[in-house]
Amino acid sequence: MLYSVRMRAAEGGAHECGGQHISGAERLLREECLEDITKKMIQRALTHSRGKADFINLTIETVKDEAITEVPLLPITTCPVDSVDSGREVAKKLLLSAGITQKAVEQAFYELDHLQTSMRGAMLVDMITGNRLDALAERGVRVSRMDIADEKSFCVWLTSQGLENMHVREALVLAAKVAAAPQIVAELCWSDDPDYVTGYITADQRYHRITKLKEMGDWQGGRVFFVKPDADIAKLIQYLQYQPVLVTANEEMIR
Ligand code: AMP
Repeated sequence: MLYSVRMRAAEGGAHECGGQHISGAERLLREECLEDITKKMIQRALTHSRGKADFINLTIETVKDEAITEVPLLPITTCPVDSVDSGREVAKKLLLSAGITQKAVEQAFYELDHLQTSMRGAMLVDMITGNRLDALAERGVRVSRMDIADEKSFCVWLTSQGLENMHVREALVLAAKVAAAPQIVAELCWSDDPDYVTGYITADQRYHRITKLKEMGDWQGGRVFFVKPDADIAKLIQYLQYQPVLVTANEEMIR
């Protein structure tokens, strides 16, 4: 049996009372890891570069083994760029070649650039029209209940690739769960941490790291999931939020 551990932290009160999102985290853990990891989550909420949380919600629930599905870790490509403009150009090209329309691509960038405050979840956007498909406003859809199946090998592998940071670790797990949804064609992300400017696109079952998608010091970040036009949105949200998923790396990839 595993435990779903979810943390969300805000400053200025709870998210639902207008507090500013500081940090969130989601894991699927064995019982013996609970104390150590939840302690780290609380420390993270209290010492984050976005501020010091005065609201922390920590939820721990059991997850039955038979409910868990496995999805593959995505292979990584890094696209080094030296400016936000060139990073965004690369991102847009990747999205267009994945079949997202120009209109939907421009709309997604516009939405992320014009957020009043950082979201704590993702926007679901129609890959053809660019219309927002979820009705969750600034909350967005929070992908939860996922983790890496073999953390030790994963960390060794990340280190060997020079990618041993928390952003990459968490994003790879989230991106793998998202990319496994048959309704989703691509993802666009950049962090809301003011000191982390690398973002990514997932498309064609590959994770494309782009080393600059926003300016240093920028507090706004977010995620867009590009969705097929005929998708069952309720079913998709159910999968993203509630389906427990372990991400597995194939031997060759992380050897
Ligand atoms: P991060 O990469 O953690 O800095 O998050 C960047 C942005 O992605 C956040 O501002 C949220 O909008 C979104 N985000 C973070 N975590 C999740 C999640 N678990 N599910 C969906 N969206 C998320």
